[in-house]
Amino acid sequence: MVAKVNQQVYPVTISFIESICGRIIDADGASRRVCVTVREGVIEEIGEPGGRSGALDFGDALLLPGAVDVHVHTRSYAGEGIEACTRAAAAGGVTTIVDMPYDASGPVDSMAAFEHKVADVEREAAIDVALWATVPPLGPVDQVAELVGAGAAAFKLSTFETDPRRFPRIPDDQLLAAFGAIAAAGGMAGVHAENDEIVRAGIAAERAAGRGGDPLSHARSRPAVAEHEAIARCLELARATGVRLHVCHVSTPRGVELVAGARRDGVDASAETCPHYLLMDESDLLARGGEAKINPPLRPASLAPDGLDMIASDHVGWPAERKRGPDILELAAGAPGVELIVPLVHDALGARRLTQLVCEAPARRFGLWPRKGRLAPGADADLIVLDPAAEWTIDPARLVTAAGWSPYSGRRVRGRVIATFSRGRQVWDGERVLARAGDGTFIAAVPAEAAARA
Ligand SMILES: [Zn+2]
Repeated sequence: MVAKVNQQVYPVTISFIESICGRIIDADGASRRVCVTVREGVIEEIGEPGGRSGALDFGDALLLPGAVDVHVHTRSYAGEGIEACTRAAAAGGVTTIVDMPYDASGPVDSMAAFEHKVADVEREAAIDVALWATVPPLGPVDQVAELVGAGAAAFKLSTFETDPRRFPRIPDDQLLAAFGAIAAAGGMAGVHAENDEIVRAGIAAERAAGRGGDPLSHARSRPAVAEHEAIARCLELARATGVRLHVCHVSTPRGVELVAGARRDGVDASAETCPHYLLMDESDLLARGGEAKINPPLRPASLAPDGLDMIASDHVGWPAERKRGPDILELAAGAPGVELIVPLVHDALGARRLTQLVCEAPARRFGLWPRKGRLAPGADADLIVLDPAAEWTIDPARLVTAAGWSPYSGRRVRGRVIATFSRGRQVWDGERVLARAGDGTFIAAVPAEAAARA
């Protein structure tokens, strides 16, 4: 089935009622044709189709809430940046990203840095952007409450030293202090959980043995126990402080079980995984080498999605030269993914679970609900139009992402994003990004207690 696509380009600002028509999936899994009426960027009504002039009618294509990708690095590689990354997001049906604080220009670990980045978002973003913050590795943590008040969605803290300036390790005593301050402010902590000493020793051993030419050297240097130990430690610190804790990029069943077990035990914890852990394993690392180098590494078996709270891309737009070379231990970790998370998760898990795991759950957990993550009156008119039957092959040369490579290159997927709307404005028409820098806006997250009162 190919949806009938109206090629009309939407006006830049919608100040009158317009309708977007297609098929939605109800809670019971059944689908029906509707028209979504939009007024001033907000969904006014979801009603019966028919008799609407000026409607954009996508036939039997699915209308889904715009995806919320809570783990994106727009500026780890300065050559990508907010504008290019958010244009790629629009092409992939992602209408809100939550951007990580580990920018090449320096970490977002103060109110001054946060306000500076908010201003950059307003100028550069093509779709909406919420922001992570962090704290200096040796403190102080005295700006945490102000950052929560300014709308920081969460605080990223790492137990592993990826980069001494941009992406530092937080020592355990400082982690405990930061968790306490974040809990007191009603914020959320999010962790990159890998044991620094175990991984450092693992890399040293692989180097000493001269094994960097073997892609599996990367996996050997970061054993699963390093991830599990750090997750368990963070959960225990969360228990002691009462902080809400989000564990980023969980890669193993044991990691999922640690988080689920702590939650059964009263810790307010959530777990995220990424498409690469669901869809790839060590055989892909062996076959693709540096392009499949990700931290934590791809594991011996891919991860089943059971028990996970959400899926995020962990997008980073490294150019090919940072990902290709004779020694995998020297290459950058991470892969572009914001443009592919929607089709990949749709292909793997279907539209219902895509909506739950990539729209609803991340919006709720990161304080963006009820404005984001749902298709209902009162929410922002952020929509994905997805042709569920369209089969296509991922070709990095045809993606909007400028990196020019992908660990999914050559993969066949079923389901294609044929249009994206951001606050009622069409930002992607299936071939071209229609959004420009400045069309997106900063979205301040609402702390948990305030959201509960609303
Ligand atoms: Zn990341």
